[in-house]
Amino acid sequence: MNEQRALPRIGVLAIQGDYAAHADALAEVGATPTEVRKPDQLAGLHGLILPGGESTTILRFLDKHSFFQTLREFAANHPVFGTCAGAILLSREVRSPAQRSLGILDSVVERNAYGRQIDSTILTAETELPGGPLEMVFIRAPRIVETGPGVQVLARRSGFPALVRQNHIMAATFHPELSADRRVHKLFVEIVAQSALTAAASG
Ligand code: GLN
Repeated sequence: MNEQRALPRIGVLAIQGDYAAHADALAEVGATPTEVRKPDQLAGLHGLILPGGESTTILRFLDKHSFFQTLREFAANHPVFGTCAGAILLSREVRSPAQRSLGILDSVVERNAYGRQIDSTILTAETELPGGPLEMVFIRAPRIVETGPGVQVLARRSGFPALVRQNHIMAATFHPELSADRRVHKLFVEIVAQSALTAAASG
């Protein structure tokens, strides 16, 4: 067979936050990034990143552009990775204060969980990812306080999950795009590539 394997096309929701850094990280690990600002731009993409920012602002934007349901449908059969505010949006339940969310990840998060003094910090912690400890940049980070049985914890901050995976959904309470280490984006691109192959085989 003479099948050419194209690079996976991964969208980055480009409303707010450091979406450009995510796009650079994706390109570095062998994906083609594309900025997404409207629901119809999800067509033809193999995966999506929801970057950090202010989850209330992103939520308002999603509502205004009738994005909410389209994102849910996309996430049902395409990998989605939420970082920081993106992780908040993906969660089943949001606390402090309570806020609507997509409910795609079986997790409960508390927003701005670390108080003013230590709201932004860089830590290095053990991870299940191959290759040793992982640097994690936290910026007014949420804390994942509960996860369901289908959620695999790949790294923690003070015992609480900081990087998780539930099948084709990933979430980080930190900003992997701001570190030089590309293992987190690499894992996501692998999940996307795998899921695109499976879809091609069954379609
Ligand atoms: N504090 C933000 C929120 O609650 C998240 C911060 C971030 O994405 N860096 O939405």
